[in-house]
Amino acid sequence: MKVIEDAARVREWTEAYRRAGLSVGFVPTMGALHEGHGELIRVSREECERVVVSIYVNPTQFDNPDDLDKYPSALEGDLEACRARGVDLVWIGRREDLLPEGFQTWVEVGSLTSPLCGAGRPGHFRGVTTVVAQLLHVVRPHRAYFGRKDFQQALVIRRMVEDLRFDLEIRRVLTVREPDGHALSSRNLRLDEAERQTALAIQRALRLLAARFEEGERSVGELTRHLRGAFASEPRLRVEYAELRDADTLELCQEPDSIPDEPGRVLVAVAAQVGGVRLIDSILLGDTSADFPSDPSPNDRDDEPT
Ligand code: AMP
Repeated sequence: MKVIEDAARVREWTEAYRRAGLSVGFVPTMGALHEGHGELIRVSREECERVVVSIYVNPTQFDNPDDLDKYPSALEGDLEACRARGVDLVWIGRREDLLPEGFQTWVEVGSLTSPLCGAGRPGHFRGVTTVVAQLLHVVRPHRAYFGRKDFQQALVIRRMVEDLRFDLEIRRVLTVREPDGHALSSRNLRLDEAERQTALAIQRALRLLAARFEEGERSVGELTRHLRGAFASEPRLRVEYAELRDADTLELCQEPDSIPDEPGRVLVAVAAQVGGVRLIDSILLGDTSADFPSDPSPNDRDDEPT
């Protein structure tokens, strides 16, 4: 496995893969790798002949300097995890390459970035899309892999890739969870046991909505009340948003709308803080066997076209 910091050398390697006719899969990360990242790598390994992982804590996507300072870092373990999973090249991004002095060009996606995390984290998506655009230009993969846990992010990146005609395919991979349903996240490392227990309310709320939908509830008003109600007994959880939105446009589903029967049309998205740690999670209504499987380990690839 190659470990490279210099962007120009990364490009030389990935160009060489392409010239040799090998398909290149790319998994961008901010490090502190866990099984969620592992799943992206696994799917990429399955679908591509070469797998590139980047590790770069992108300062431009943090609206809160304290969150950036406290973002976990675990480089040695990350490299070990990549090696164990058969990654071919790890790119450890450097600020001097990705945010050099004089840098002043930004990629900004429109209305998809307004609600949800875009509303609570001004500038966040602009930071994400700008750096992801750069990473994609350096690596030039055939396919890039993103987690469905960061649902809005994957949607925004797909929009950027389509609108700006990047020549690659965006693949979306299902959320990997702990056996108790809690979504894996690098930020979980900052939770103590009591905070983790509090955070379980998020997946409980999502499961509740999934169950109500399965039972036939289609009223947006009722489902929204169930969602809000699920957090009423957890005052230690500071809910930033808990909403039902169209899974393609992210438009808010509002009373008196009803949810279509077709699975996967409506996103239930939650962001909440516990002990100063911001967590997000989401499900697609009617598509939750994938999100909360009865067998705790599987994570089938999300095969829907993205
Ligand atoms: P991050 O390092 O948090 O920026 O995440 C890098 C990639 O891993 C993003 O595409 C995330 O959506 C994805 N990811 C993070 N957590 C999970 C998870 N629990 N399951 C699947 N993918 C995830």
